[in-house]
Amino acid sequence: MGDPGDLFDKASERLRRMAVGACRYDTVKNRFRTQAPQLRDFLNPHTGDLVVQSTLQNETLADREKRLSQVQVIIDRNRKLSREVSTFGFVRPGKDLAPIEHIPAATAAEAEIFARDKLGVMADFAGNLQVGNKINASMARLHNLGFEKPQQVSLLSPEDFKKHFPPREHQELAHVPAAYVPGLDRIIVQDLPQWDRMEKDLQPLHRQNWFSTPSESHLIFHENGHRLHKMRLTNKQWNRLADQKPDEALSAIIKKEVGDYAASDFLELIAEMFAGMVNGKTYSPILMAHYFEKKGPLP
Ligand SMILES: [Zn+2]
Repeated sequence: MGDPGDLFDKASERLRRMAVGACRYDTVKNRFRTQAPQLRDFLNPHTGDLVVQSTLQNETLADREKRLSQVQVIIDRNRKLSREVSTFGFVRPGKDLAPIEHIPAATAAEAEIFARDKLGVMADFAGNLQVGNKINASMARLHNLGFEKPQQVSLLSPEDFKKHFPPREHQELAHVPAAYVPGLDRIIVQDLPQWDRMEKDLQPLHRQNWFSTPSESHLIFHENGHRLHKMRLTNKQWNRLADQKPDEALSAIIKKEVGDYAASDFLELIAEMFAGMVNGKTYSPILMAHYFEKKGPLP
């Protein structure tokens, strides 16, 4: 709701082709084998206009990736500003930190240095460059959207990941890509082969109504939502919300507006709503009342 990019992406292919021009549309679709080009695929980050056809025809894959990451910085900045205006009625002074553009590292060690020096995050990527770059990209977006980043992120082998959970939960952990550990104040990421195809996996999970957004950054946003939420609660309040499940009527609203996973318990509701709002979604007053009452993290 309310995001021009969102409206574009949900329109029929005929309308999308018309909106950006059939030549532009087909160029992006054919050259990069993109199933459904999004509005951002056509934007020039320097002018905010549509990219001219000759640029789309000639830009290399690397140029295109750089342009898309610059466009993302602008989209996130606009989201941050519009969220502040809709929450406070104005843009808060002094909160406008300089945006960080994520530049993919060439080695895992370099990715850890980027996390430390640019993002202020102590990261251990355990030699996995690809996952390190994905996590850094998500954390740069969190920064640009005006949220505090996690202090520590560690990539762990499935064996070490399990050690943070009681044995009765071990079976369910096989496909859990990341988790927030309140006692350590750390986001732990499980080194699973799924990370290589996370973008592709998340889209069907969103379509099946499981997660609130199909964004590549969804997992890190969700876990950071838990972290920012925990920072506003005592241990007792946190444990109470973990045990509380929404009743049937509320559950139906949550599944319709947010997703099925969000209806698991109130901690998951807050984390999924947070990830949704960070990605430009808005929710009904009923759900926002629960969000505020349960001390969901504020913009
Ligand atoms: Zn969660």
